[in-house]
Amino acid sequence: MVGNLVNLDQSCSILSIKTMTINPFETAKEQLQKAAEIAKLDKNKVEQLKIPDRYVEVSIPVKMDSGEQRIFTGFRSQHNNARGPYKGGIRYHQQVNLDEVRALSFWMSFKNAVVNVPFGGGKGGIIVNPKELSVSELERLSRGYVKKIYPIIGPETDVPAPDVNTTGQIMGWMLDEYQKCSGNKSMATFTQHQNQEYQEYLNKKDTPAQCKTAYWLRNFGAGFTGKSLDNGGSQGREEATGFGGVYVFEEVVKSKAVDLPKNASVAVQGFGNVSTFFAQAAEKLGYKIVALSDSKGGIYNPEGLGFEKVLAHKKSTGALKDFAEAKNITNAELLELPVDVLVPAALENVLTGDNASKIKARLIIEMANGPTTPAADMVFATKNVAVIPDILANSGGVCVSYYEWYQNMHNEKWDKDQVLQKLSKQIKQAFADVLEVKNKYKTTFRVAAYILAAQRIIEEME
Ligand code: NAD
Repeated sequence: MVGNLVNLDQSCSILSIKTMTINPFETAKEQLQKAAEIAKLDKNKVEQLKIPDRYVEVSIPVKMDSGEQRIFTGFRSQHNNARGPYKGGIRYHQQVNLDEVRALSFWMSFKNAVVNVPFGGGKGGIIVNPKELSVSELERLSRGYVKKIYPIIGPETDVPAPDVNTTGQIMGWMLDEYQKCSGNKSMATFTQHQNQEYQEYLNKKDTPAQCKTAYWLRNFGAGFTGKSLDNGGSQGREEATGFGGVYVFEEVVKSKAVDLPKNASVAVQGFGNVSTFFAQAAEKLGYKIVALSDSKGGIYNPEGLGFEKVLAHKKSTGALKDFAEAKNITNAELLELPVDVLVPAALENVLTGDNASKIKARLIIEMANGPTTPAADMVFATKNVAVIPDILANSGGVCVSYYEWYQNMHNEKWDKDQVLQKLSKQIKQAFADVLEVKNKYKTTFRVAAYILAAQRIIEEME
């Protein structure tokens, strides 16, 4: 969350002197400015895009199990909704701050535009270490947050989702609270009349119970994504981000933007949701996953690790280290390995001005949000390292979030094959669109993605 203090980054305006950390909101604005200058975008619109439409800070009083009251601070930032409702997750972390939330909402607007999803950008967060709270304290905190922000969220206004440390269970509590706070639309008022209206509107074959569910999903359920399957969630959401990254990877290889050997070696930082689905799918395509890591450290075998065996080891020991067929390495060492492809899929600001010149991979696929600082980006551009930016590489998640919202709004249910086929098509089209802009302006993938997204948003702005 908080960046490293590094030499090259010190020369960038993104360094906050006061805190001596990398400010993600300044990074985001700098990325847009660069794209704006290259593509000569409308200056007034660009200035508008540098500031979120609205952000709120809320205080959330929570009665702790001890009987004492603690007041937590939460945020919601709504960056831009020219292309559709604000959309973005809610993060629980002790280092959440307004600039981080504003940056993440900014990136959501650009991510949705790159992949052509009709949503804008939003993000929320609460300053809390959720591991220090009991389940009931966590529930009261989640409900308390919704009590403060419910007037500005909803299926057609702003659609939250899980993010770091927030789960389907937390979305369930929030959705329930949202429904309570939204007053007269409560399910208790689902009358016979509404039922008939709905039956006509939806599908004449639907039973009253099915109509009631459809009504609920359209008015409340669609207000949050990342829900569990039995609560209106979508098939394929779990694997969407990792698989989406591999669809992009395949397109990069096909485009010959980077010349890679047939069974190129890949190092993946992380062993969570995104990284495991990415590694599993890339291995199936014949790539050699030579390194993986979690917060306790990494493992490396230049001959390949064997994903399923690593998974079994992690399940039985709770960590990756000490895997019999590999050597233990640190997370810092993983980034600098002699591999063809590097996939940071865990944290922000891991590729900095400090280590960029030591990176040996020729292709970097950003599956985490914001893993590369602008200073590192400059080094990669000079060294001709191709960086597939987060707003394109990890956009699979938001695509399927949109599919979830769409299914809820239209009383549809798609199976996993349908979802993954749509996802593959959408991501591949986004890659082709970015590549076209990249070739036109003879620039990097990141700048091209920003130009494309900014043009799409500006087109819809008044
Ligand atoms: P996750 O919590 O499932 O996994 C995170 C992984 O990072 C874990 O394996 C953890 O052990 C590892 N990790 C934690 N601290 C580390 C450290 N200091 N060094 C190395 N590894 C460390 O999270 P996730 O959902 O896989 O998300 C990973 C990244 O992808 C985040 O940046 C997230 O914002 C981004 N992202 C996720 C999604 C999604 O759909 N889940 C979508 C878009 C972007």
